Amino acid sequence: MTHVFGRSGASLPKAVRGEGCYIHDARGRAYLDGSGGAAVSCLGHSDPDVRAAIHAQLDQLAFAHTGFFTSDPAEDLADLLAANAPEGIERVYLLSGGSEAVEAAIKLARQYFLEIGQPGRHRVIARRQSYHGNTLGALAAGGNAWRREKYAPLLVETSHIAPCYEYRFREDGETAEAYGQRAANELQAEIDRLGADSVMAFIAEPVVGATAGAVPAVDGYFRRIREICDANGILLILDEVMCGMGRTGTLFASEHDGVAPDIVTIAKGLGAGYMPIGAMLCTGTVYDAIAQGSGAFQHGHTYHGHPLAAAAGRAVLTAILGRDLLPQVRARGEMLQQALTSRLGQHPHVGDIRGRGLFRGVELVEDRATKATFDPARKINARVKSAAMENGLICYPAGGTVDGKHGDHVLLAPPYIISEDQIDELVDKLARAIDTAIA
Ligand code: PMP
Repeated sequence: MTHVFGRSGASLPKAVRGEGCYIHDARGRAYLDGSGGAAVSCLGHSDPDVRAAIHAQLDQLAFAHTGFFTSDPAEDLADLLAANAPEGIERVYLLSGGSEAVEAAIKLARQYFLEIGQPGRHRVIARRQSYHGNTLGALAAGGNAWRREKYAPLLVETSHIAPCYEYRFREDGETAEAYGQRAANELQAEIDRLGADSVMAFIAEPVVGATAGAVPAVDGYFRRIREICDANGILLILDEVMCGMGRTGTLFASEHDGVAPDIVTIAKGLGAGYMPIGAMLCTGTVYDAIAQGSGAFQHGHTYHGHPLAAAAGRAVLTAILGRDLLPQVRARGEMLQQALTSRLGQHPHVGDIRGRGLFRGVELVEDRATKATFDPARKINARVKSAAMENGLICYPAGGTVDGKHGDHVLLAPPYIISEDQIDELVDKLARAIDTAIA
C-alpha cells in the first residue's frame, strides 16, 4: 500500500518519465498528454531550455525569503509579464499556484477599497459553472455546487450569476449575442439587489475550463461586463489560471474579448509543470492606491517570488514568446477542432465541440438532439478518462456543468508543440474511449 493521501492512489499507473507530448509509466507504457494534465504542460515534458534554466538557477540559489531579498528571476519574470500583459496591467505578485493567486486577487480588491475610503465594499460576484480554486476563498468564488456542498458553512456568501455556457441556456429563438447580453446584465441586476456600495469585484474565467470544458464567452459579453463594472465602480478580476499563458492562442485569453481587467490571475501554463508557480497581476491604479495609502499589500506566503520557480516561469514565458508559439497554438488549435469535428461531429452522444486555440472541449450527452445529459450515476466523463488511459491518452474530465452534478465534458489542452500526427492520434484514441465508456 502507499501512504500517499490524495488522488495518486495505488490504482493509478506510476509516472516515471516525460518526453515531448508523452508521459511514460513504470511498466513502459506511453500516454499522449492530450490535456497537459489539467492545462499545465504547455511546452510538453522535458523541455531542454526550461530544464537548463532550472539547473542554472539551482546551482546559484534556490531560495531567498522575499522579506529579506529580491532576485533576478523574480524581477525579470515580473517585467516580462507586465510588458506583455493587457493594457493598464503594471504590477505582478508571484505566488505558488492558481488558488493562491485567486485568494490574493480577492484580498487585493478588498484592500484597494479600504485604501480609497470605501470600506463597505466586500462582496464578490461570480458565475455559476466556474472554478476558481480549492482554498476557502477561491472555493467560495467558484460556482460549482458539488465542490462547494460539503464546505458550505465555511464559505463566504458569494452571488453566482448566469454562466456563459450559452447554447444550453438560450431561450427559444434567442441569438448567442442576445444571450450574452442577457447573461451580462444579470451582473447589474445582482449589483442592484446587493447595493453597489457593498460589491467590490466580479470574477470570471474568460474561457471556462474545468467545469464546462473550454467554453469561450459570446462576442460582446465581456465588453458589457466591463461597462457594468465601470458604471458601478467595481473591479473586474479575470481568472486566467487555466486559459492564460497562450493556451487560447493569445498570451492572455482576454485579448480576444477586447477587455482589460483590473486584476488577472495566471498559474498552470506559467510553470508549465516544471515548477509550482502562479501570479496575480494588477493595474497601476490598484497598486498605486495601496502604495500611496498604507504602503503595502498586507499579504504574503513563504514561497512568494521563489527564485527557482521564477526562473522556470521566466524560461517558459521566454519560450512561448521567443519561439513564436502563439501562431502555432492558433493553427494547431484549428486542426484539432477540425479533426474532432470530422471524427465526432455526428456522433450520437456528442452534443458540442468548441473552444479556442489548443483549449477544446467535447460535450457528451445522452441525446444529441435535445442535449439531454447522462445520468450522473453513470459517471461518463470519469469512464472516458479511464478508457482513454487504457488507450494511452490523457484527457481531463470536466463536469458538473448544468447544476453542479449533471453534464459530462472532455477537456483537451495538449502541449503547444503537438504535431499533426499526434493530433490524429489524440482524436482517434479519444473517439475509441468515448465509444468504450458509453457502450
Ligand atoms: N482557477 C482556475 C480557472 C482553475 O482552472 C484552477 C485549477 N484548475 C484554479 C483557479 C486553481 O489552481 P490551483 O489548482 O493551481 O490551485
